[in-house]
Amino acid sequence: MNSQYNDFDIKAMKEAIKLSASSLECKDIPDGGPFGAVIYDKNGNFVAGGYNHVLANHDPSAHGEVQAIRAAGQKLKTWDLTGCTLYTSCEPCPMCLMTAKWANINKIFFAATRKDAANIGFRDDDLYELLKPNVFATQITECHNEAVEVMQKWLAKFDNNGSY
Ligand SMILES: [Zn+2]
Repeated sequence: MNSQYNDFDIKAMKEAIKLSASSLECKDIPDGGPFGAVIYDKNGNFVAGGYNHVLANHDPSAHGEVQAIRAAGQKLKTWDLTGCTLYTSCEPCPMCLMTAKWANINKIFFAATRKDAANIGFRDDDLYELLKPNVFATQITECHNEAVEVMQKWLAKFDNNGSY
């Protein structure tokens, strides 16, 4: 066994995999891909879980990890999941990885890999290839100042000491 995880982590991962199998219960069209995730707090308490609802919710962001993070946030009444651990049945895509980072989740475990996801037709692996600066979006420089002005007004009104 790798020293980065223990029996508890393996048990938690099995819960995530159980959730990933929820899609198999669907009749004709699945709720989404076969991906599930669970979140435990720093004391080892189950916080929330979720599985892919991209098709059911018509929501490309409804990945298992995002579903679990949203549910955990609702349950704990905070976006800040510092100290929590995310277990996901498959290696997180860039969106989920970054969502976890936005939630301050630093410990993330996965079971299947992005290559396994690619083998059943998912694009996670391709998306990682696209992660080069300025590939996704183009800045409209003429509007830069106008957008920043809103940010500065927001900061002046809701000064958060950089804690969001
Ligand atoms: Zn994802």
